[in-house]
Amino acid sequence: MTKMRADLTSPKYTPEKLFWGRFMDEKICSKCGEKRLKSFFYGKAAECKKCWAERVRLYNERKPEILKKTKKKWNEKVHPPIECKICGTIFKRKSASSVCSLKCRILDGCKEEKNGCWIWQKCRGRQSYGKTGWFSKAVTAHRASYIAFKGEIPEGLQVCHKCDVRLCVNPDHLWLGTQKDNMEDAKTKGRLKGTPGIKWTDQQREKILKNRQPPNKKGEAHHLAKLNEKNVREIRNLLREGIKQNKIADKYGVCQSAVSHIKSGRRWPHILEEEK
Ligand SMILES: [Zn+2]
Ligand SMILES: [Zn+2]
Ligand SMILES: [Zn+2]
Repeated sequence: MTKMRADLTSPKYTPEKLFWGRFMDEKICSKCGEKRLKSFFYGKAAECKKCWAERVRLYNERKPEILKKTKKKWNEKVHPPIECKICGTIFKRKSASSVCSLKCRILDGCKEEKNGCWIWQKCRGRQSYGKTGWFSKAVTAHRASYIAFKGEIPEGLQVCHKCDVRLCVNPDHLWLGTQKDNMEDAKTKGRLKGTPGIKWTDQQREKILKNRQPPNKKGEAHHLAKLNEKNVREIRNLLREGIKQNKIADKYGVCQSAVSHIKSGRRWPHILEEEK
């Protein structure tokens, strides 16, 4: 179909219409039925700007209600009521948690040992205390256990262990005390090292020495060593000949400061002593 060219000589095209173009076109609003200029419509909308504004106002009035409804629907879909995996009660979820209460959270996370301690199996925080979360708050596991089984902890008090096992969350092994109480307790049990007047028993000494980290290995035995004793002797010879440190460093694939430390004896001191 060929496109018809508008007949500009027809009386339909008044000089005004020719000047204003499409803005002079009129359209009937689908809602109020009034005939209005096309510029009174948003794009290709069927309703005029006035009716549109009315519609937006009505929507804004009902908005909180609508949002509430959709959120409720969404919540039911994402967090349906489930059965607690510890106590079996059916509860409404408020988070992704699969246990109904803090009590169940503690019971879920620990394992009972022969001596009666409930050892925390989940995340560990600083100073090897157990760590857990409850409604986006991080708490140590034994404090959470005290709150769950015995009640709130008064401000300024610490939850201490009778059994001296930091990961233990058995509420029967926990007691409330001040910092001073806790320290006194540690002193009488001989847990503090370096306290004057306290001597370790042989058993304690054995345990502490066993748990202590071994010192780093020296020389070639160190896992990060790049040089060996032969290299170091060569480097010391080259230094004596007056060759620049950075050239030696490039040759052996180490940095200049390493060569400097070898020269001063801060690194590989046993080679320096050998030469003396
Ligand atoms: Zn209208
Ligand atoms: Zn439960
Ligand atoms: Zn315990």
